[in-house]
Amino acid sequence: MTANTSPVMNFRKGGNAAEEAEKESNASGGRRDRSPDYFSLKEDKASTVVRLLTDHDDWIYVEQHSFVPTKAAPKGAEKWPKAMMSVCRKDPAFEGHFSDCYICDKKIKNSFEKLASSRIRVWAIAVERELVRGDGSEALGGPSKLGVVIGVRDKIDEVDELNADGKPTGNKLNYPRLLIINAPMKGFFANLKALHGLYGTVCDRDFSITRDGTGTDTNYKIVPIDPIPDLKPGTPAWDLYTQSVAEREVVLEAIVGEKASDEYYARFFDPSKTVDKDGNVTETASAAVGGMMNLASSDGTGASGALPADMRDKIRNLGTPTG
Ligand SMILES: [Zn+2]
Repeated sequence: MTANTSPVMNFRKGGNAAEEAEKESNASGGRRDRSPDYFSLKEDKASTVVRLLTDHDDWIYVEQHSFVPTKAAPKGAEKWPKAMMSVCRKDPAFEGHFSDCYICDKKIKNSFEKLASSRIRVWAIAVERELVRGDGSEALGGPSKLGVVIGVRDKIDEVDELNADGKPTGNKLNYPRLLIINAPMKGFFANLKALHGLYGTVCDRDFSITRDGTGTDTNYKIVPIDPIPDLKPGTPAWDLYTQSVAEREVVLEAIVGEKASDEYYARFFDPSKTVDKDGNVTETASAAVGGMMNLASSDGTGASGALPADMRDKIRNLGTPTG
């Protein structure tokens, strides 16, 4: 539509109303507040402090696709990502569950126009922490500790309390701020592995993590902070961490698995499928047309079962495009 032919547009106006609208749109979905954030240091030299909750031996690793362009935004979507990661459905974890992977099977290209082939990526849960520095007050060590690190504490997530029906009660609960870490070995987890080699665990102390570089050149410098004897596996403080993870129903396996689910692939990638508001995956109305193209690379097992056999035959008789 050009400016000349543009009809009158009734934009909504006003700061108060905008604020309300923003709150409302953030509240929709309900679960958002309860899901942990992902670990992310966007700028070169940015840093944070974390306490790993998942030790070396329990790190989950999977084949993963990165920067996969998403399909067109669904009607009414206000925000829609240009590209997303996914867990490859051909990862050995899904043997017997999935036999396809839309991104592998269709040789989808990533945002950089290269084949979006899968790579190993590692997953772990951490608590985000922060350094506490003396401010000169007696409570924080007096004048001699001004500006000096005197301790480390949890950052806090304020989470909606839910009733038995899963609806917010209006109360807020405070929990240690959980982070999901999803990163390669090289440049990230390999550095933690080296520290595990020294200490036999990565859970008995906090680590200061600093981003070094940008793009594919990024390394994360990980510096151990002196252990806090009262905070390591087996202590009451640690049990509170474990308990808060359980109360928030944060399960790493479920988070990773969701990124390989039918629903996830249908929602973000596969244009021949749609997801309804209840999360059910269906073939889109135009799937028959899309299916015609797909037949060229179909494995012929009909495992997807989405197209009735007679419709398949009809489409085949229309002629399969080559190439
Ligand atoms: Zn794949």
